[in-house]
Parts: sequence; C-alpha cells; structure tokens
Amino acid sequence: MKIIMLGAPGAGKGTQASRIAEKFGIPHVSTGDIFRANIKNGTELGKEAKKYMDQGQLVPDELTVKILLDRVAQDDCKNGYVLDGFPRTIPQAEVLDSELTKLGTSVDYAINVEVPDDNIIGRMSGRRACLKCGATYHIVTLKPKKEGICDKCGSELVLRDDDKPETVKNRLSVYHDQTQPLIDYYNKKGVLKEVDGTIAPDDVFKAIEEILK
Ligand code: AMP
Repeated sequence: MKIIMLGAPGAGKGTQASRIAEKFGIPHVSTGDIFRANIKNGTELGKEAKKYMDQGQLVPDELTVKILLDRVAQDDCKNGYVLDGFPRTIPQAEVLDSELTKLGTSVDYAINVEVPDDNIIGRMSGRRACLKCGATYHIVTLKPKKEGICDKCGSELVLRDDDKPETVKNRLSVYHDQTQPLIDYYNKKGVLKEVDGTIAPDDVFKAIEEILK
C-alpha cells in the first residue's frame, strides 16, 4: 500500500503517518526527517538543505526527488510505504507518478489532513520534536509521558528552528502556493481522501483507519 499524507505544516501528518506505519507494518518515509538526519551528520546534502529549511523555503526538487527515490527503492519499501512531506510540489508528484508507472504501480491513497490556517501557528509553536528519532509532541495536545523527553528514545525534545513563528508564516505561504495544488492533482486521479485534522489525534487516526480498511 502506497500512501501519501497531504496537509499544511503542523496539521499532524507526521503523527498520523507514524501510526499508519506501525499499524500496517510499512515504513514511514519523511523527507524532512531525512534532511534533518543529514544536517545532524554534517553531510553536504544537509548543509545545502539547511539553507532553505531555516527560512521555511522548500529544498529544490532536484535534491529532494533524488533522496526520496533512493529511499523508496530500498528493500523495506517493497510492500509499500507512507510518505510524509513528499510530494510538496506538482513536479515532485509527477516524477513520483512516472517512476511508479515504470514499476507498474501507483499511489493508492492521498490523505489530506485538513486544518485551517488559524489553528496552525498556535499548534506549531507548541510543537516539540525529538531530533534523534523524529517523533513529535505538543505541549498541550500530545504531551510526552515525561516533560521534555521523547517517549520513544529518551532524548531531549526541542522547538525545531523551522517551527519558530516567523518561519511558520513562510512555510504556510509556501504551502498555499506550491503544495495545496496537490489536493486537486490527487483528486483528479481519484485517490484523494479528506480527514478533519482539528479533532483529537486518536479520532483522526480512527477516520484514517476507516478509509484504509
Ligand atoms: P517537514 O518536517 O516535512 O515539515 O519538512 C521540514 C522542511 O524540510 C520543509 O519546510 C522543507 O524546507 C524541507 N522539505 C521536506 N520535504 C520536502 C519536499 N518534499 N520538498 C522540498 N522541501 C522539503
């Protein structure tokens, strides 16, 4: 099963993608996590990506498409995957489609987690992330068991640079310009499913489970 998560930054795509991955036994592939891992390890790719990420801009398609295609070509992706944060532009979606067509397959579901802009800024300033394993929490709505510590790996939780309010505004405007058109793109392909992302994360997941049943 190949699933794409759509939605504004901070809509809860990552949280839901990780639950889908766990429930269906498929990898959760996040291009943002791949970039952050590269930044942490000081790679050339990380250095290049950081320039864009810190300003809330998209990393250029040439770099992003390559890392994504390399990742989904790995053995653990052969039975499917859930993509979180990719595609973010129409050209990225077109490359993914043409690669999948070559393999005789296609995207099964594009799940749009809908949250109005008004909610996004508050959500993101309360978001805390584990830079080690990529898990995300929220200081009000999705607290870790122990404050400031990741439930999954015990590392310290931080406010990511790109979740700071000034960057979030840029990310939202980039989202509307470049990523939102994907909703229409996948709708035309007949694979779009919408869920209300403003309800509790457990209820969002129940709605997704209904779709994937
Ligand atoms: P995320 O963790 O998905 O919110 O991604 C964090 C940042 O990584 C984004 O704001 C972009 O700068 C970059 N990024 C992640 N995925 C992509 C993508 N598919 N295309 C371009 N830039 C991306």
